[in-house]
Amino acid sequence: MAEMTEWTAREALDALARGEVSSEELTRAFLARIERLEDRVRAFITLTPDSALESARAADRRRAEARRSGETLPPLLGLPLAVKDLLALEGVPCTCGSRILEGFIPPYTATSVARLLEAGAVSLGKTNLDEFAMGSSTESSAYGVTRNPWNLDHVPGGSSGGSAAAVAARMAPAALGTDTGGSVRQPASFCGLTGIKPTYGRVSRYGLVAYGSSLDCVGVLARTAVDAALLLEVMAGHDPLDATSLDAPVPRFRFDQEPDLRGLRVGVPKEFFIEGMQPEVESAVRAAVARLADLGAEVIEISLPHTDLALPVYYLIAPAEASANLSRYDGVRYGLREPAGALWDQFKDTRGAGFGPEVKRRIMLGTYALSAGYYDAYYGQAQKVRTLIKRDFETAFTQVDLIATPVAPSTAFRLGEHRDDPLSMYLEDVFTLPVNLAGVPGLALPVGFDGQGLPVGMQLLGPHLGEEVLFRVGHAYQQVTDWHLRRPPLD
Ligand code: GLN
Repeated sequence: MAEMTEWTAREALDALARGEVSSEELTRAFLARIERLEDRVRAFITLTPDSALESARAADRRRAEARRSGETLPPLLGLPLAVKDLLALEGVPCTCGSRILEGFIPPYTATSVARLLEAGAVSLGKTNLDEFAMGSSTESSAYGVTRNPWNLDHVPGGSSGGSAAAVAARMAPAALGTDTGGSVRQPASFCGLTGIKPTYGRVSRYGLVAYGSSLDCVGVLARTAVDAALLLEVMAGHDPLDATSLDAPVPRFRFDQEPDLRGLRVGVPKEFFIEGMQPEVESAVRAAVARLADLGAEVIEISLPHTDLALPVYYLIAPAEASANLSRYDGVRYGLREPAGALWDQFKDTRGAGFGPEVKRRIMLGTYALSAGYYDAYYGQAQKVRTLIKRDFETAFTQVDLIATPVAPSTAFRLGEHRDDPLSMYLEDVFTLPVNLAGVPGLALPVGFDGQGLPVGMQLLGPHLGEEVLFRVGHAYQQVTDWHLRRPPLD
């Protein structure tokens, strides 16, 4: 029997269903691995081993009972998972990687998390992230940096770097992440994982701490397309608690097909292969596209002409929305409070002490872009260009069924490499941002390694609500390749 922590979520659930292992044993195996490796990786902000074991035992009792009663069991019963610390889980501290939320314990649970728990999942703990999800390396967390399990001197990507590192290190079979501008796909790519950023509105944002509300999506970091679909299916669907959640049916993703892609048109946008990108990234992605062609897909060169405007547009819209969303941290309602004489001083001192430099930079950028006299020139203009970017995708999807691109221009960079140069950090997001601006779904998949042994990722992009085609193609690719089965050299 393979090591339990090596199982995918699907394999673990099958073993649980066959009675080969109990949820308690499985949960203990992951907790033991966390204990052994966490000092080196630092994927978690909060671990909840006691409540994890308690839920695992409850899952085991329920399974035993069902053997007698014949009750149908929920789909994730007894499966351990990790949750990005930007999602609320009742009774467990939620820091968002920020000092300003120190001590804050949410009295409610995010819908996405609640649906997983109702389906029987067991939460192991809350994972590290860039402060308020602002970043691409997990270095802006107030709780220390997370390291990439493939090479501990490199970043795991961000902002869902803790979730990615935990899954890559086999500390959890899957984890929740969030993606406002690439924060599921880029860490998935840097850590050799499969990550889904669903269509905007596919998964409720209730209980997800807001960053850029018109862009934020809850997604999954997993090892396979099958596992990513398994979790998405449980989380997706309308939620009356989030006015932007879509009232669209959630398909049951099926994986019983042969890897046959005949009749499928794959677009490769020329704007995503740019000067200055790491040559090994380009060659691995082109080889992966050739693999899709081997399976019968027709590959077509396409153009998304406004791609180069996505970066400036995103870095106006996201900070603008963030500056409004973060105004609620005033030292009165949540977490940290710097006592001071006058109320106004309390606001200033709390925010001054509680927010880190990247968050402050975004608040200033966003406030400026929204200020009277500049609103039309910056925010208004950015919204117009966003429409052009959206139209690029709509036009492309009249020609092709899905689009394949690199996730990031390079593999995982070294810790500290971009830390003091925000602009160079923002440039890491060039390929992921347009997808959030357009609101369409994206699936990141491992497609190779560079010369240093660091994973390379490809993203498959689909039309609005087109997750099904992404999973189908992702799974076909994983049926004929084994990049997603490689494990980092941690042991
Ligand atoms: N790196 C991007 C940013 O800093 C995206 C982050 C995210 O998706 N949360 O805003």
